[in-house]
Order: sequence, then structure tokens, then C-alpha cells
Amino acid sequence: MGRVGVCGSLNMDVFGYVERLPHPGETLRGRSLLYAPGGKGANQAVAAARAGADVSFAGARGRDGFGETLVESLRRDGIDVTALEPVNGPTGVALILVEESGENQIVVISGANDRVRGPAPGDNVSIWVTQAEIPVEAVVATLETARASGATALVNPAPAGRLPADLVARFDIVVVNESELEALGGQRAPVTVLTLGAAGARLLPDGPVLPALPAQAVDTTGAGDALVGVMAAGLAEGMPVERALRFGMAAASLAVESTGCQPAMPPRDRIDARVAAAR
Ligand code: ATP
Repeated sequence: MGRVGVCGSLNMDVFGYVERLPHPGETLRGRSLLYAPGGKGANQAVAAARAGADVSFAGARGRDGFGETLVESLRRDGIDVTALEPVNGPTGVALILVEESGENQIVVISGANDRVRGPAPGDNVSIWVTQAEIPVEAVVATLETARASGATALVNPAPAGRLPADLVARFDIVVVNESELEALGGQRAPVTVLTLGAAGARLLPDGPVLPALPAQAVDTTGAGDALVGVMAAGLAEGMPVERALRFGMAAASLAVESTGCQPAMPPRDRIDARVAAAR
């Protein structure tokens, strides 16, 4: 069984809960504060690790308290953080204000994520996974590392529009939602998975819609990250593409049933049980 390598972003998400969002220049009293580990790279690495994969994470963090906390949190999931480099400047942070109505305001300070250079070669990785919250050069370096070692290269070009479409199309596998697909124009990778939210997912160009596994959804943030990380874990185990996709979809259906992103990533036994129930 091969390892999953993830080269991507790592953030501390800082949630402030307020009655209503402030106007410019206004000071308000908040109700509560929550710190949550985030960043698409870290979310996908955690999803893959909980699904049973050996995972290495390549990225960058500041030499600050948030950086230390996030490293510890990845280690607790058994993720190898040897290639998570400490750099000057702050760890990536997302500042998220959420008002009572659910409306929010988000500021992302990418900090150390802008200094990610790409993975170190070697490492016995059979599939490299990356996203678009790190510099384009680091995404190119991830693809080149995969090519040099004969590993599969998977990209989730999220947020949409940050990576050149012709770079995305050079990967073996691309996982996109509708807006990320639109940003690709007509360009496609050999395997392109289109996710359709509660409707499920399909393999382009002509695969049928695979319906989402039934779920009692309470918070759909991180559904895409669950699918990508767990699909990569399935591929590293040698599952064929469609089976790995269904494995990822089962994890995503579990992730939407609880709040938060990394806390919602399900363990292997629950994913297996949901796959079995869907047969
Ligand atoms: P996000 O950016 O919020 O992580 P995304 O846009 O990348 O999401 P989606 O297409 O919304 O990704 O969802 C990914 C997968 O999660 C879907 O293909 C589906 O399998 C699963 N999923 C999403 N919502 C639900 C739901 N309500 N019930 C069951 N499964 C769901």
C-alpha cells in the first residue's frame, strides 16, 4: 500500500460569533470565539489519514503559536510533518465572523502558505494531492515530483480560477465542482471528477451521475475536502477510480452530518459501514 502525499495549505480558522456583522469603523462585542485547524491541504490530509492512509504533508507554517498548534494537530492524526517547513512570517489564518442569521465575512491571510515550495522527492508516495491555496510554482513542483517518481498526480483546483487550465489538465486526476470546472474552459485531465453537492458526482465526460449517499446534512463545509482526501486514500490502496470515488463520496456524506471541517472527517470503520449500507 502506497503513501498519500499532500502538498497544500494549512490555516488556523478563527471564528468570531456576533449578533450582527459590524459596519466599517464600528466596534462590537462578540459572543464567542472558536479556533479550528483548516486549510484545504490540511483538511484533505486529515481526511486521508482517518481513512487509513499513511500520509505525508508538505507545506509551510510560521514560527508562531498557531504554527505549533497545527503541527501538533496533524501529528495527532498520525500525519508525517517532516516536510512542513517553518518559515518567517505568520502561519496562515482565516478570520471568520459569523452573525446570528448565518451570514459571514471572511478574511484569509495566507501568510506562510505563500512560501510553500513543493514536496521533497522520494518518500514512497504513490499519489500526490494538491490544491490552489499555495503558489502555482508549488503546484507545478508537486506535479513534477509525482512524474519523477512514477506517482499519480491529483489536483483539486480550489478556489476556482487560481491555476492555469493547461496546468490542471496535465494532472492524471482532477476533482472539481461546477465553478472550478467552468474555470477550466474546455481543458480536461485523463480522469475528471465533477462533484455536484447533494446530487452526488460523476466522472466526465460521459459517466452517469453517482447519487450522493443519503445523509442528514447539518454543515456541508469540507464535503469536497473529505471526498478528495478519502478518494486519494482509496487510490493509494489500489482501488480502481470509480470505487475510490464512491469511497470518497461515502466519507463526504458522513462529513456533512457534523459541524466543522477537520473534526467532521470520519474514521475508516464508519466509511466502510456507509459504503456497505449503500450497496
Ligand atoms: P466544499 O467547498 O463545501 O467542500 P465542494 O463544492 O468542493 O464543497 P460539493 O460538490 O459540494 O463539493 O460536495 C462534494 C461531495 O460531497 C459531493 O460529490 C457529495 O458526494 C458529497 N455531499 C455534499 N453534500 C451532500 C449532502 N447533502 N448529502 C450527502 N452527500 C453530500
